[in-house]
Amino acid sequence: MMSKKLELVNKIEAIVGKPNVLTHGEMFDEFSTSTMKEQTHPCAVIIPNNKNDVFQIVKLFNDVNSQNDEKFQLHPISSGKNWGYTCSEAGSDNAFLLYLVNLNNITEYDDTLGTVRIGAGVTQKQLYDFLKEKGLKFWMDATGSSVDCSVLGNSLERGFGHTPAGNHFEFISDLDVVLGNGKAISTGFRQFSDESKRFASEGIYKWGVGPYVDGIFSQSTLGIVTEATLKLIAAPECYLPFFISTQKDTNINVLVDRIRDLRERQVVKSCVHITNLDKSLQAALDESDWPLSKLSLSDEDRKRHTKAYMLNEWTASGALYGSVEEVEVWKKKLNARLQMESLKYSSLAKLNSNG
Ligand SMILES: Cc1cc2nc3c(=O)[nH]c(=O)nc-3n(C[C@H](O)[C@H](O)[C@H](O)COP(=O)(O)OP(=O)(O)OC[C@H]3O[C@@H](n4cnc5c(N)ncnc54)[C@H](O)[C@@H]3O)c2cc1C
Repeated sequence: MMSKKLELVNKIEAIVGKPNVLTHGEMFDEFSTSTMKEQTHPCAVIIPNNKNDVFQIVKLFNDVNSQNDEKFQLHPISSGKNWGYTCSEAGSDNAFLLYLVNLNNITEYDDTLGTVRIGAGVTQKQLYDFLKEKGLKFWMDATGSSVDCSVLGNSLERGFGHTPAGNHFEFISDLDVVLGNGKAISTGFRQFSDESKRFASEGIYKWGVGPYVDGIFSQSTLGIVTEATLKLIAAPECYLPFFISTQKDTNINVLVDRIRDLRERQVVKSCVHITNLDKSLQAALDESDWPLSKLSLSDEDRKRHTKAYMLNEWTASGALYGSVEEVEVWKKKLNARLQMESLKYSSLAKLNSNG
């Protein structure tokens, strides 16, 4: 007798096509491997062709689950590269991954408001290429992860970047969501839009009216978010990346206090990343310094590379973004604030917004 799981796989294949249901192979193995200690394996990876497929799949799962004692789960992933956190781990061996790579439309770019509509499958590279083609009047924030990571998946996971728009969940709104019961909802002012008319306030004020519900769909998988609006940042006239470091391991408290103060006073508006020496070494060294075959660095190599790359125990990095005049003022304030302490300040050359 055919197992319930196999029966379900056959029905899913009828919706999305056989090649879009993976039960083995390289890509399946990749999605079955996690950096988590606890490993679960998906029943299959489903690759819907479009939004309509998503609706049909959710309906199918509801029908099948209502008729069986054995329940199957659907776990949405946008690009499935949540490395170091959950990867694409669903947390159950009875789960099917819903890989939304094909929902990769970029639409409704508004070059006055600086907003753009992105599907779940839109990657960092895709959005960057799109904005570049539009003349880089607006910038996106980016993570330090792969260019092939999804912008929306990362934002729903409350990922982080570097610029003043680095707190990613803050910058998405107006979600289109397919709920577990198969119904579609839109959040924010988008709930008042339809295919023929876009509600005037959509994309401008993420809170909409009434209870704010977007948070329910963040770090939750309580719905399948198919699209959202992303607020971009206006390309600044110039930006100045900076590094603040300390050679004394115990000075981390001073470093954190100063950065906090600079952020609270809005001298520094960007995200600030603080790395210890190991992380700085990992970022600075290339394969010729540290071959992949070598698991750990010897103390001697560590010292040598630390000196050669002029690294310190703790390093904070961020950037100033604004007009040339603004950046000059903030740079002076930054310098003055840090000179009082035993902190070392360095900055890269000032770059104009096309640099
Ligand atoms: C070297 C390295 C550097 C990294 N740097 C960064 C960094 O700078 N910043 C950072 O934030 N992360 C970083 N990461 C972690 C990770 O790679 C990124 O956060 C990545 O963007 C997450 O994977 P993803 O975009 O494919 O999301 P996915 O894996 O697709 O999604 C993550 C989770 O979000 C939920 N989800 C995804 N899509 C949907 C949807 N459409 N509807 C509902 N729920 C959904 C699911 O629970 C899913 O498991 C780094 C990882 C490595 C290895």
